[in-house]
Amino acid sequence: MKYQVMVLAAGQGKRMKAGRNKQFIELEGKPVIIHTLTVFENDPMCEEIKLVINEKEVPIFKELLATYQIAKVSEMVLGGKERQDSVYNGLLRMENAEIVLVHDGARPFIRQEVIHRLVEKAKLDGAAIVGVPVKDTIKKVNSDLLIMETVERAALWMIQTPQAFRYPILQKAHQQAKAEQYLGTDESSLVERIGVPVHMVEGDYENIKLTTPEDLIVANAILKKQKVL
Ligand code: C5P
Repeated sequence: MKYQVMVLAAGQGKRMKAGRNKQFIELEGKPVIIHTLTVFENDPMCEEIKLVINEKEVPIFKELLATYQIAKVSEMVLGGKERQDSVYNGLLRMENAEIVLVHDGARPFIRQEVIHRLVEKAKLDGAAIVGVPVKDTIKKVNSDLLIMETVERAALWMIQTPQAFRYPILQKAHQQAKAEQYLGTDESSLVERIGVPVHMVEGDYENIKLTTPEDLIVANAILKKQKVL
């Protein structure tokens, strides 16, 4: 059940309005990216971490890895303009992996137990992603803000990371997307395009992505709860 993971941290995080990469924002005195990396550092099933970052932030990440003694980062890979470009660059450095996980550095609350269920499924079936059932009613709206459709909620899931694949599947999906200039918002959408079935693994609602300032309030509440438990 071993795996390798690519942790994405090369974004600008403009929506967070922090004036710097949101990966460096501190929660309980520790940068977000360290919270995320520590989950994989402590997971005996994780063999290796590729950290995808921006060229100008190499020195900051190097210092953080040393300070917090994150030993499983075997390489820092330079990211690209879009998230998908960053994943592509990371994949080129993971050719020896059997199972590859792609995870957002900005999702620090992923739990080991969920990762293990995900990896097991990917190993068995080739492609699996983590998600949770949608709680709100979802409607399609047109450009005049008129409701077009109320979508049947029972079939809707919100998709998170990690997403896990056998290496050749993800590599083929990325090569095809690149050749056809298709830009997706997650890895699964690229894999779905090449006709490979992707399986859903139920995660939990705490695996939030830190995107806008309100998310930090929730993040601190989650950390506080974890300390009590
Ligand atoms: O911007 P957003 O939060 O959706 O990005 C998700 C993750 O992808 C973040 O951890 C971010 O650092 C990463 N990313 C990246 N390269 C990009 C854009 C985003 O590694 N070009």
